[in-house]
Amino acid sequence: MRWYIIMKITKKLGVRQMSLIVQKFGGTSVKDAQRIFNVAKIITDTYAQGNSVVAVVSAQGDTTDDLIAKANEINKSGSSREMDVLLSSGEQISMSLLAMAVESMGFPVISLTGWQAGFLTQSTHQNARIKKINTERLQNELDKRNIVIVAGFQGINRYDDITTLGRGGSDTSAVAIAAAMKADLCQIYTDVDGVYTADPRIVPTARKLDEITYDEMLELASLGANVLHNRSVEMAKKYNVKMEVLSSLTKAPGTEIKEVAKVEKMLIKGVARDNDVTRLSIIGVPDYPGIAFKVFSTLASEKINVDIILQSIGRNGRKDISFTVCRAHKGQAMRILEDIKESVGAEEITCDDNVSKVSVVGAGMQSNPGVAATMFQALGDANINISMISTSEIKISVLIHLDDSERAMRVIHDAFELH
Ligand code: ASP
Ligand code: MG
Repeated sequence: MRWYIIMKITKKLGVRQMSLIVQKFGGTSVKDAQRIFNVAKIITDTYAQGNSVVAVVSAQGDTTDDLIAKANEINKSGSSREMDVLLSSGEQISMSLLAMAVESMGFPVISLTGWQAGFLTQSTHQNARIKKINTERLQNELDKRNIVIVAGFQGINRYDDITTLGRGGSDTSAVAIAAAMKADLCQIYTDVDGVYTADPRIVPTARKLDEITYDEMLELASLGANVLHNRSVEMAKKYNVKMEVLSSLTKAPGTEIKEVAKVEKMLIKGVARDNDVTRLSIIGVPDYPGIAFKVFSTLASEKINVDIILQSIGRNGRKDISFTVCRAHKGQAMRILEDIKESVGAEEITCDDNVSKVSVVGAGMQSNPGVAATMFQALGDANINISMISTSEIKISVLIHLDDSERAMRVIHDAFELH
């Protein structure tokens, strides 16, 4: 009875139950002393409201790029083990500086490197996947009511060597902690105030989304919208982590990422483009079974990821096969095709870098016909030629000329009335 009354009173007074909130801050959010104090204020405000706080930080500003440049001055083919030792230091600078700022504001705080925070990863350097987080230390520090600051982007492997999680990996560190500790919320603070219908630098009429589903965000993240590390979204979906993208500089509400978006029943959530593509073609191969298998199994055995594939209808017993790969794989893919050119009886191998992949994403297209038609009409009216098309349940991608890509984004954005 007494408890019931107390509960009623606390409810009336709006006293909140203590929540665990993970807050991640990107490189621009911690780039200098002033920004670090700005972040310290966000963390300590959250803590002062009675929450437990784990803050995950990226390296300051362009630190990671600068470290890579430094390494290249010394040894262009330095081992990836040593690269990880070097790159992990960027996040450690941020975590200690931020801890010092929080200390100076009179709050209890401790910073932890990836391994101190319990991050165990696979052994692959520079692109390691998180296997497990031993949360004991993190939990102990939170139990002591410390604000915990963790270096993002890093862990250790089973040989006790430092690993990093791939560029942009701090988002994934934050979501991993949120998942492992069953946090109530994982906030990703960045220099934009949320997820937009398109990159506002290309499409000025783009607008911020209040919410988006995990699947839509995952497609957008892998199709070139540079907001989140796509593995972080994958993980958030798998463990149902409530996620929010917001700016560390404005007080504006951001974009929530969750399983089902209820408020906005938009057909299309966004338009993205990816210029990191090359199209390769094998021209005039004989039109008989087994050719595509030979080509793509050879590429797969060399671990080359193929994206859009197009095969022409056979004419006079011959056909063409085109596909796209990311630019980093172009040289290797060309070599493989030249190697098998004779054995598959191809007439010619060609390659084109002047291409861009433009995509629309939206869970609404699953139940609404006509999305492709609207997109293709917009491109047709703008006299933009489509050279390849690929679709999934919630996205449509087209390959077009690189010079047309920004215009394509704008006309598609208009056609779906996303402004
Ligand atoms: N500092 C790393 C990078 O720039 C990791 C991150 O920012 O998330 O890629
Ligand atoms: Mg960074």
